[in-house]
Amino acid sequence: MNEMFLLKLGEIVLKGGNKFQFENRLKTNVARRMRPFGDFRVYIVQSTVYIEPENDACDLEGAWDACHFIFGVVSLCRCRPCEKNLDDIFEKAMAYLGDDLRMAKSFKVESKRSDKRFPLTSIGISQEIGGRIAEAVEEIEVDVHHPEYTVYVEVRDHAAYVHGPADPGAGGLPTGVGGRAMVLLSGGIDSPVAGYMIAKRGVELECVHFFSYPYTSELAKDKVLELARLMARYCGKMTVNVVGFTEIQEAIRDNCPEEFFTLIMRRFMMKIAERIALDHGCGCLVTGENLGQVASQTMEAMAVTAASVDLPIFQPLIGMDKEEIVTIARKIGTMETSILPYEDCCTVFTPRHPKTKPTKAQVDHACEKLDFDALIERALADTEMIRVRYHG
Ligand code: ATP
Ligand code: MG
Repeated sequence: MNEMFLLKLGEIVLKGGNKFQFENRLKTNVARRMRPFGDFRVYIVQSTVYIEPENDACDLEGAWDACHFIFGVVSLCRCRPCEKNLDDIFEKAMAYLGDDLRMAKSFKVESKRSDKRFPLTSIGISQEIGGRIAEAVEEIEVDVHHPEYTVYVEVRDHAAYVHGPADPGAGGLPTGVGGRAMVLLSGGIDSPVAGYMIAKRGVELECVHFFSYPYTSELAKDKVLELARLMARYCGKMTVNVVGFTEIQEAIRDNCPEEFFTLIMRRFMMKIAERIALDHGCGCLVTGENLGQVASQTMEAMAVTAASVDLPIFQPLIGMDKEEIVTIARKIGTMETSILPYEDCCTVFTPRHPKTKPTKAQVDHACEKLDFDALIERALADTEMIRVRYHG
């Protein structure tokens, strides 16, 4: 076997009694993510996921790329397995990493020996392999403090492995260990980031999007579906529930005082999202709300909105600055799609002077004329479920 991948587990190793459950979930997730790229053997030993291609037909580059988006992994490397003796370790290190070493001016070897039966200590392995490399590669020097390149040797139970520097992994916890959440996904910058942050904590996502045709266009809907596809790179396949919201918005426009439009609309959004969430086994709602960003995101307005539902509402962006949110949106690849021009149903009937310090009683009073239950039932009946997956 020429090459394989090692994924190092993150916080999972701290989880004590639940460790096996976490590891099994990660193993299943990794195996599923590798499937489009061919036949891979996936197993976990000593808090490391091993991924071995089973034949030459495997798409190693595609698989390697996908490994960077799996939650629960802190770091990952491509490596070359070798026999557990110094000659083979040296030979494979030169064959596998020789080009990188010849480009570097200085290097060191860092070794780890989890198989304590191996006759040399970690330091002994590093000295021995380092000495042989220094002799074999012209003009390279050993520098243990600031090396340009580091060769890693790991002597594990079944084999030894050599590799170069590791890449950072996606971090977080394996998808699925933390339950399911319903993300209220708009076409903006914030909600995809909010969904990503909750997903990173091991939570499976589903999305709900409110769509007010013809006030918002098919293009606005396509944009949201594209955002969900981009999120699926990290979160895995998702369902987007697209709810027809036109009748509700028109009812609000025709029957409620303008300064409360947005607050009432948000009450409907929360109630409908909660219904779909409960139907789909989700334990919380997630929004991209951010304290003070707009009139409906004052403390008072959010309190009124939160009082519409019983499920907890998670708002992972609540205390962040826009710049910090944008940095994450760029990192996860949603930013460019989020800034495409679009209309959101929030912007359709925006009050000129929205109420920024509402009370629940005022909002209750403002929507007295509306038949909430009937409007909600009709909106739920007008919901389309769309499955999305990341497609590269
Ligand atoms: P975003 O950038 O996510 O659109 P925003 O800063 O524009 O957020 P609002 O428009 O007030 O803020 O929306 C607040 C939150 O409400 C959004 O982050 C999202 O979770 C939810 N939301 C807004 N519009 C919709 C929609 N059309 N469908 C589903 N959820 C929505
Ligand atoms: Mg928005």
